[in-house]
Amino acid sequence: MKEKSEKIGTQVGPCGIVCVSCPLGSGTIAETADRTKEYIKDCKIPEWAPMVSEDGGNIDWAQVDKGLEWMTKYAICAGCERGGGPPDCTIRICAREKGHELCSSCGELDSCTKFEWLKENGDKLKETLKKSRGMSKKEYIKSVEGSMPWET
Ligand code: SF4
Repeated sequence: MKEKSEKIGTQVGPCGIVCVSCPLGSGTIAETADRTKEYIKDCKIPEWAPMVSEDGGNIDWAQVDKGLEWMTKYAICAGCERGGGPPDCTIRICAREKGHELCSSCGELDSCTKFEWLKENGDKLKETLKKSRGMSKKEYIKSVEGSMPWET
């Protein structure tokens, strides 16, 4: 997982999301799922859950395990640069077509509506990209460290 974080550490989507700041990109979700799977087993949670509450007795723990196992493999993103990210992301598709590594180098950024699907985070990312016009990818990553919309 460490190796994965190192690979993702230099990645940024054209939308300005620094991949390592995202729990899917950093592998935090997959790691947490794996750890939770172990905790359930080590702490024997299915054995005492029915004694704690009625609901605890109705849980299909085999399915929980299956779901968590799935998350350890698939709730992880390789980053847009390596073929990850939402397959239908309007921003990545457009930026690729126009040849922009970051949307900050696009002349249509001000009027662009392709960030709308990211809701309020999309507005914030657009503002950040506007402020970072002219920066290289490396400079951009450094300038936004710890200030992605979900980090502030
Ligand atoms: S129009 Fe420009 S700013 Fe909007 S998604 Fe495409 S490349 Fe990015």
